[in-house]
Amino acid sequence: MPMLSNVVLASGNPGKLREFSALFQPLGVKLIAQGTLGIPDAPEPHPTFVENALAKARHASALSGLPALADDSGICVAALGGEPGIHSARYAQAEAGEKSDEANNRKLIATLAGLRDRRACYVAVLVLVARPDDPLPVIAQATWDGVIVDAPRGEHGFGYDPYFYLPAEGLCAAQLDPVRKNTISHRAMALQELLAQLRNRGLIA
Ligand code: IMP
Repeated sequence: MPMLSNVVLASGNPGKLREFSALFQPLGVKLIAQGTLGIPDAPEPHPTFVENALAKARHASALSGLPALADDSGICVAALGGEPGIHSARYAQAEAGEKSDEANNRKLIATLAGLRDRRACYVAVLVLVARPDDPLPVIAQATWDGVIVDAPRGEHGFGYDPYFYLPAEGLCAAQLDPVRKNTISHRAMALQELLAQLRNRGLIA
């Protein structure tokens, strides 16, 4: 595969485009949001993060004719057998009727009531394919360990961050300065791992 130059980002999230572009731009790689090419979101029917990220990357690559990068992320709670996992964004949708961080957190805290095992991890998976039938996708996966607490703390971040306590930091993720979160989070670690693999394979300088 030649060095990467233009890559479609299989996400409509402007925050992700900003975060990923900040790392790729200095390497001479331009990320193009799939929405700007009229590419709709792909279905995510699989039970694992890696399968869904691969499906999204393949879909964006097939419709654009370009290499494509996709991510999938969520929170896995040990006492719940890894749930909400790939359902993290819509964990409480059946009850709340719509996607809502607040309802997700309410459901998680209620489900864990009385349970002593509060271990959880954020998961981020990144997949880059050169083409839809790429036999050797670049796959990077990282986890970030924490515990779920009953009372929210902090104003930053999103999703489960106010309830995700990081023993190593002595803080919840929502209390972290956003710059610090973007340096140590699951997504940051997966991005570093992806860049290392791309460098090893001669796809970036
Ligand atoms: P997606 O990868 O954009 O589909 O996000 C999946 C869901 O996982 C989000 O909607 C959040 O509920 C949760 N999640 C993933 N990463 C984070 C994070 O860094 N903080 C808080 N919640 C997260």
